[in-house]
Amino acid sequence: MVAAYKRNWITSRDGNVSIRHHDRDHFYITPSGIRKQTMQPELFKKIAIMNQPIDRWSWTELEYTDISANLRPSGEIPLHFGLQKRMGQHANDVRVVMHFHPTYCVAAMHAGINLDQLVKDFPELGRYTKVAPNVPDVAPISQQLADETISRLDVDKEGNIAHDIIGIKGHGVVAIDTSPWRTYEHIERLEHICKIVLASGNYGR
Ligand SMILES: [Zn+2]
Repeated sequence: MVAAYKRNWITSRDGNVSIRHHDRDHFYITPSGIRKQTMQPELFKKIAIMNQPIDRWSWTELEYTDISANLRPSGEIPLHFGLQKRMGQHANDVRVVMHFHPTYCVAAMHAGINLDQLVKDFPELGRYTKVAPNVPDVAPISQQLADETISRLDVDKEGNIAHDIIGIKGHGVVAIDTSPWRTYEHIERLEHICKIVLASGNYGR
């Protein structure tokens, strides 16, 4: 969160991250409304993933630390919960979901660029990062944002995800991987390409 703040990927209270260990039926998520550049581990919210009755997934808060007890989980919890409950691809690993507002990714979408098309001109991008088709304008912290994002990331019934990162128009990106820094690198890589494209002025206008 500190690194994202320093790179202008978020302003103070933006952005959210969740982390799940492969063998646990709970995950950790950043709280709502706190300054992310001074975020401490004790502030994370601990969330149980419940599947009782079967196919009626829901979540509930678990006790974690005294200081986190009075905080609410991130407003984007429908997105994080929807991904964290489904992911089987990383069955023997940690699963990290990151949502930030990186300047050049958001600017590129605002300029009409489909982020998944950038790999045609910048094949190096696709070597390490698979980019999903943009999500069109949807309201922040909505179930629709979660549903549209998860469907375009292409998560199958076994929990395999076809893409590493996706842009949400007028808003930001969501990235997924097996560690915080691996997840961060997907955003860094896409942000770098978007910066190059915008600096070139050659993007179809
Ligand atoms: Zn956001």
